[in-house]
Amino acid sequence: MLGTFSNLTVKAETTFVDVPNNHRAAKEVNFLAEGGILNTSSNRLNPDETITRAEAVSIIGRATQLDGTQRQTKFSDVQASAKEAGYIQSAYEKHYLSGYADGTFKPEQKVSRGEMALLISRAFNYGATNTGSANQALLSKKISTGLGNGQFGGNELIKRADYAVFIARAINSSFRSGYTKAFPQQGKVTASALTVRTGPSTQYGKIASVGNGKMLKIDHFVGTWAEVVDDKNSFFGFVSSSYLAITPTNGGGATDTNQPDPNPTTPTTPSPVLNPLANKKIIIDPGHGGKDTGAIGNGMNEKDIVLDVGLKVQQVLNRMSVPSYLTRSTNVFIELKDRPIIAKQQKGDIFVSIHINSSAKPESGTGIETHYYAGATNPYNAQSKLLAQCIQKRLVEEWKLADRGIHPTNLYVNKYNSMPAVLAELGFINNSTDAAKLKSDYWRQKDAEAIVLGILDYYKANKIDVSSLYPLVRQ
Ligand SMILES: [Zn+2]
Repeated sequence: MLGTFSNLTVKAETTFVDVPNNHRAAKEVNFLAEGGILNTSSNRLNPDETITRAEAVSIIGRATQLDGTQRQTKFSDVQASAKEAGYIQSAYEKHYLSGYADGTFKPEQKVSRGEMALLISRAFNYGATNTGSANQALLSKKISTGLGNGQFGGNELIKRADYAVFIARAINSSFRSGYTKAFPQQGKVTASALTVRTGPSTQYGKIASVGNGKMLKIDHFVGTWAEVVDDKNSFFGFVSSSYLAITPTNGGGATDTNQPDPNPTTPTTPSPVLNPLANKKIIIDPGHGGKDTGAIGNGMNEKDIVLDVGLKVQQVLNRMSVPSYLTRSTNVFIELKDRPIIAKQQKGDIFVSIHINSSAKPESGTGIETHYYAGATNPYNAQSKLLAQCIQKRLVEEWKLADRGIHPTNLYVNKYNSMPAVLAELGFINNSTDAAKLKSDYWRQKDAEAIVLGILDYYKANKIDVSSLYPLVRQ
C-alpha cells in the first residue's frame, strides 16, 4: 500500500519521465494528464516527436468530452476496432474534421501546425474556415505566440509537447500569456450546488461550490463545460454548463480579445461590449405555406421543412439577442409580393429566404445553391451577392452536400426587396441523399446554424466586430 501511495504522489508531480518538472511544457502536460486528456498508460510522452492525426483527434476529443466509445466510423481506413475509432467518428459527427475526398482519414499521417490550428478552431468554435484564419484565431486568443519570426509556421509538423501546450491553453485561459478574458456570456446556476473544478471534467479537483441563482461570467466553452469566474472574481474554474441558464452579456465588462494586446503586461481597463447586431433586424422568410406546399418528395413538403429551419434560425438569433422577424412562423399562405413588403415594414436589415430545391426527374439534382439579384430594381447588388456568398459557403461546409454555387437571378423576393436579399435552396427534396438530411432534425439544426454563421460572416465582412457572437451559434 505504501508503494501505491508514493507512486500516486509522484504521478501528481511528473506524469511522464521525459517531461520533468523543469520541462517547458510541464505545467500544461501535467494539467492534461490530470484530467485524463493525455493518455497516461505509458510513462513517456516523447515530447519532441510528431503526433499522428489519430492521436491528435483523441486528445481533443477527450478534452471536449466527445464520446470515445469504439465503433464503426465513416472512414474506410479507421476500423471499429481501432482504439481511436470512437473519438475519430465523434469528431467527424461534430464537424471537427471531414477527412479526405477519397473517404479516408489517414490516421497515421503527421499533423502540421496549420491542421492543428483548424482542429482546435473547430473544436472550440472560433469560426475559422481555413488554416489561415484558424492560425489567426489562435494568435489573437494568445493560444499561439507564433514562431518568434512573426509567422505561425502552418506547414511545419507539430511536436507532441507543443500540441499539449496548445490544447491546454485552449482549455484553460490561465495558461495563455497576455490574454484578457472576454465574457460574451453569463450563466445563472440552476443546480442547488454546482461544483467548480480546476479543469473541464469530474477528474479535476474541486475549487468551490456555487448555489442556485448565482451568476457566473463565462469566458468560453470546452465541450459542455464552461470556463467561468464569479461576479466578484473570487474564483476561476470550470463548471458543467448543463447547470447554467446561459444568456449573452450586454455591457457586462468584457473586452475584445480579438485585437492584439499592445502591452500584455498592463491590465487593460474593461470596456462594455454591446451586442454588435442589436440594431440589425434579420428577416427570415420560410417559403410557401398553407395551400402552397412547395416542392414535394420523399414524403415531405417543402413548406414544412423551411418553416422548421426558419424557426431554428430564429432560435439561434434569439440566443444571441439579435433581432429577427419571420415572414411566417406557422403554416400559413403568404403571397410572394407581400414578403418584401413585410420585410420593409419590419425595417429589416437583410432578408434571407429559405427554400428546398426539386428536379424534374427524381435523383437527378443534388446540392446547395443560393440566389441573389443583380439588376437595377433592388439597388443592394453587391451586398446581396456578398450575403449569398457567405451563406452558401457556410451551408456547404456544414451540410456537406454539393456546392452548386451562387446565382444572379430574378427571383421575386430578391428583386423587389429594399435591402440585401438572398434565397437559399438547401437541397433537393426528390434526391434520396439530400432528403435524408432534410428529414433529420440534426441536419436541419446544422442548416440553421450555417445560415446564422453566414449572416455573421456577412457582417464581419462589413467590418462589424461580431466575434463575441460566433461562440453562441452552436449549443
Ligand atoms: Zn420553394
